Amino acid sequence: MLCVSLIPHSLTELKSQLRKAARLSFLIELRADRLPITHPNRLPVLKNRPIIFTCRPRWAGGFFKGSETARIQLLQSAIDSNRFDYVDVEYGIFKRLKRPVSGKTRIILSDHNFKKTPNNLNQIYQKLSRLKPDVIKIVTMARDISDNLKIFKLHKYTNRGIPLIAFCMGEDGLISRVLYKKFGFWIMYAPLEFKDATGPGQIPYFDLKHLYRADRLNKQTKIYGLIGQPVAHSLSPLFFNHIFKQKKINAVYLPFRFKNLKSFKSFNDFLDVLGYSVTAPYKTSIMRYLNHLTPLARRIGAVNTIYPDKIGVYRKGPGPTNLIGTNTDAWGAWQALEQAFRSYQTGYDYRDKTALIIGAGGAARAIAFWLRLSGMRLIFVNRHYLKAKKNALDFKAEAIKFSSLPGYKEPVDLIINATPLGTWPRTNITPLPKKFFKPGMIVFDAIYNPPETRFLREAKEKGCLTVSGLGMFLYQADAQLKLFLP
Ligand code: NAP
Repeated sequence: MLCVSLIPHSLTELKSQLRKAARLSFLIELRADRLPITHPNRLPVLKNRPIIFTCRPRWAGGFFKGSETARIQLLQSAIDSNRFDYVDVEYGIFKRLKRPVSGKTRIILSDHNFKKTPNNLNQIYQKLSRLKPDVIKIVTMARDISDNLKIFKLHKYTNRGIPLIAFCMGEDGLISRVLYKKFGFWIMYAPLEFKDATGPGQIPYFDLKHLYRADRLNKQTKIYGLIGQPVAHSLSPLFFNHIFKQKKINAVYLPFRFKNLKSFKSFNDFLDVLGYSVTAPYKTSIMRYLNHLTPLARRIGAVNTIYPDKIGVYRKGPGPTNLIGTNTDAWGAWQALEQAFRSYQTGYDYRDKTALIIGAGGAARAIAFWLRLSGMRLIFVNRHYLKAKKNALDFKAEAIKFSSLPGYKEPVDLIINATPLGTWPRTNITPLPKKFFKPGMIVFDAIYNPPETRFLREAKEKGCLTVSGLGMFLYQADAQLKLFLP
């Protein structure tokens, strides 16, 4: 169940937020930290909408400015008033409160760690359960994506008769918030909007409900995701989750922000992920964690897609990890450019043409792979010249230094940006001065966010045919989907 979490500044704001929340969600959490009240009797309540009442002090991530005695009195009044279905209290003050003798109010006993996700979550659970609350809540700060696994392992306690709420806070805790139901946890909190978040890393209600469909997931839900750093700019979660919803597939696609790949193997073994997209900076470094690479991935030297070896051809030993790495970027770029060439001129002959590729990473090599096959002459230019030289060697191409680019006079038919220069939010950057563009050139940007970069806009202004990275994105993602689904 999703629970809209409110933290209003005034009673007027509370009334309007309650109306909105009641339209969206069955359960509502009311954080009274910022309200100018000393007794909950002044608070409006709703018919047919259970409310969790709480008030957090600064030491528990809240905003209550009064004394601890005043806060405890407020919580005790909330319990005694019998107006709320639940009152959430921290472990530290539980013993100072009198529990409800009768009436509807139940106690959520919570333990927060705002610094880290400790290894002793089992002990924390035992400590809380000894006090026999109605609901147990364990919330920790994720410092790394692997911290979510510690929370997921608490699922063994979900069948003990006491509902359990458990998740990680912070940006790295996103997956624990989305997958709460898959692991049997009772509810997940969500603010009405991002700006109304009541805790670090909260996912707005709309995204949790409609992008990830978190309240529809269950034990059987299959997991897919994107490995990278950063991952927040990616359209992949939108693309895959939309397809899963449309095709009624019980699956979810998540952003997996790995700070490094040290925990990748244990993460994969635990979560049993059925397919990954891979983005920078891990397209090469991920290779050593995989059981098999397709010849295409080997040739390009970059993996953007990982899928399980369904028939076990490449199984090397026991264990659940049996992953194949391939590359769909080459296909995506090929399809996007072919489409552009077709709209430009029928029977485009690549063999007489020259392409200038800015960048020497995974995308540059994937694009070069296909262009070379089609017989184009390739020139690489890259910030680190040695990488451009290596690519030139691998693809029988040429390399020039970044510094010599402004004065480069050779005719070029196709220019490709395969660097992140110009990606949102730094959209005012461009890898090439406008004067470089000549009418009739084809200009392709691998970036898809924004769909029209400054690079493309300036090329268009100079009479070039421009191709956005959005087409490449959609073609490569569609190819991934075919590999992901059984
Ligand atoms: P990558 O492997 O990390 O390579 C990045 C390349 O950009 C490297 O050549 C790097 O140069 C260069 N670069 C990075 N920062 C730079 C800077 N400040 N100034 C000059 N050069 C810089 O990344 P990738 O996977 O190839 O991705 C490159 C771009 O293509 C990204 O924007 C990515 O989003 C986009 N992409 C789009 C699609 C799609 O479907 N449309 C698919 C894949 C990638 P050094 O070698 O000197 O570090």
